[in-house]
Amino acid sequence: MTEHAVVIAGGGPTGLMLAAELALAGVDVAIVERRASQELVGSRAGGLHSRTIEVLDQRGIADRFLSEGQTAQVARFAGTRLDISDFPTRHNYGLGLWQNHIERILAGWVGELAVPIFHGIEVNGFAQDDTGVDVALSNGRSLRAQYLVGCDGGRSLIRKAAGIAFPGSDPTTSNLIAEVEMAETPEWGIHHSAFGVHSFGRKEYQIVDGKIVYADRGPVGVLVTEQHVGPATEPTLAISARLSSPHAGRTTGSIAPSGSPGSPMQRGRPRPTARDGC
Ligand SMILES: Cc1cc2nc3c(=O)[nH]c(=O)nc-3n(C[C@H](O)[C@H](O)[C@H](O)COP(=O)(O)OP(=O)(O)OC[C@H]3O[C@@H](n4cnc5c(N)ncnc54)[C@H](O)[C@@H]3O)c2cc1C
Repeated sequence: MTEHAVVIAGGGPTGLMLAAELALAGVDVAIVERRASQELVGSRAGGLHSRTIEVLDQRGIADRFLSEGQTAQVARFAGTRLDISDFPTRHNYGLGLWQNHIERILAGWVGELAVPIFHGIEVNGFAQDDTGVDVALSNGRSLRAQYLVGCDGGRSLIRKAAGIAFPGSDPTTSNLIAEVEMAETPEWGIHHSAFGVHSFGRKEYQIVDGKIVYADRGPVGVLVTEQHVGPATEPTLAISARLSSPHAGRTTGSIAPSGSPGSPMQRGRPRPTARDGC
């Protein structure tokens, strides 16, 4: 049985960052990630806020992110735009950079630090004893560690198996997020209706004089507030009708999921604020 001081379940942003921090501190750490590679279906979060860039700068890797993204004033509080350009920091801005790129760059750094990432393997469970934990893997093998850390997302198997509660109130808002191809050009940007916020923006864009200029073609990121809180299940293609319905604002013509297989539509509850808030 292979041993590590720490095994991290999940190689998303949290697991990658923790692994790098532990490796820098001289701790023997390994990641188990169920995805076959670091590739993400969909682009997820849209960037980094100032404080995150500062932390990455403390580790000497901020430039890797800055060189691939676009800086802008993105900070908001309750919908109010905050200009932080006079803040006493080297990074008085946010960075527009999709999460799939953020993860790729983080994984590259983790690789340089020689942290093993076991891709395509799931943590199925664990058994704890007085000296550590046996981590059961989907390939029938197991790992031995002093600590197992659950960085396996919001529906964490590790958290549930450890009996750690996830207290909170029921959601009051439900949003659908999708990457689609659209037959007609919608009105770009963030809109508000009686049902809440909705927005359209092409995934590819440039920031020119502090403003977003969308590419002429390519997939469109869509966000719609649902009229009612929906079930916490994967949305289906039937949802495309709702995306083009009046409560999404203008009727926008037919919508088809874009790009890769494994539909990039997602249901999010509750929803972070609008896309330009990273
Ligand atoms: C569609 C969508 C849009 C989003 N948009 C935004 C946004 O605009 N702004 C924003 O700030 N955030 C956004 N988020 C949230 C953001 O993506 C998450 O906050 C972030 O990914 C959390 O990172 P994490 O590493 O904690 O978890 P995750 O990214 O969920 O990573 C968990 C990892 O664990 C792996 N895993 C799960 N179970 C196991 C297991 N049993 N064994 C091994 N591996 C396992 C998964 O494959 C995954 O790689 C969005 C999320 C989604 C889904």
